[in-house]
Amino acid sequence: MIVAMRSDATQADIERVVETIAEYGLRAMTLPGGERVAIGITSSISHDVRDTLTEVLNSLAGVGHVTQVSRAYKLASREFNPVDSVVEIKGVKIGAPTFTVAAGPCAIENRDQLMQTAESVEKSGAKLLRGGAFKPRTSPYAFQGLGVEGLKLLKEAGEATGMVTVTEIMDQHDAELIAEYADILQIGARNMQNYSLLSAVGRMDVPVLLKRGPGATIDEWLLAAEYILCQGNSKVILCERGVHPLDRAYTRYTLDILAIPVVKSISHLPVLVDPSHAAGNRAYVPSLCCAAAAAGADGLLVEVHPEPSKALCDGPQALTLDTFATVMQQVKSLCGNKVF
Ligand code: PEP
Ligand code: MN
Repeated sequence: MIVAMRSDATQADIERVVETIAEYGLRAMTLPGGERVAIGITSSISHDVRDTLTEVLNSLAGVGHVTQVSRAYKLASREFNPVDSVVEIKGVKIGAPTFTVAAGPCAIENRDQLMQTAESVEKSGAKLLRGGAFKPRTSPYAFQGLGVEGLKLLKEAGEATGMVTVTEIMDQHDAELIAEYADILQIGARNMQNYSLLSAVGRMDVPVLLKRGPGATIDEWLLAAEYILCQGNSKVILCERGVHPLDRAYTRYTLDILAIPVVKSISHLPVLVDPSHAAGNRAYVPSLCCAAAAAGADGLLVEVHPEPSKALCDGPQALTLDTFATVMQQVKSLCGNKVF
């Protein structure tokens, strides 16, 4: 259930609504909007209480209207917030009408590799620097990332270039540590349904980039976002990165392009697209970048490496610095009236 307050509602009106909801033993969540405040009831409401409560809330001062949310996710829904959410970090906006690009290596390998990449992608127009320090690898024998040393390099590169940084968190116990060094915590595809991790970052005041699991439906993805939102953290950014493919012979995953307009229509959360992990092959990354922009994505997350053939992780899908610069020009021309 969502209570949309009128634009002239006072703070006292809002508090009265929250108190009334609490009197029914239910949990209220207040979402400040541009013009008006919305209050969502996040606990489940029994049928008999619903009608009485709707009537009571409708009679309170400052209440515009009370609506039932038809979907399993509440706070992530457009019904809860009809306006596009924008997550702002150090002056960089993620969410319509801005198109924001994150770029960088799959894994941070050393200072030179990261600095060279950061300086170049920043010049090409990327506002976010990505780089993994704790890597989820299929094989325990593969390079697992530099850990804290990598986080330090990421922070250094972010500060040197003025870029906002994003890196993956795999373990909830690392949350505070990673947040000391990076601006955005990435929850990878493998952890999309790690509910204790989702709840832990939900209790923090830090932006979270939530990737879609390759086998997850759109509802499962949005419910994963709901785990973060219902703990009080509203800074959630979604990222489509490909779902299990019909044919693995040619691509790693299948980029679900259709998920972009679908999710944008049912949720207010910003949606980025990661074409690199979807394709698994750099040859297909430029066209997927363009497709994502044309389909209405709010930005991209692209793997870029100064020497992809020497990359310790995901080299085959990494763009070179030059190709990334060219792709950025193409994407810009497709973004129409968006702010780049
Ligand atoms: C990554 O971004 O490097 C990564 C591991 O992505 P995903 O979780 O989408 O596989
Ligand atoms: Mn990768």
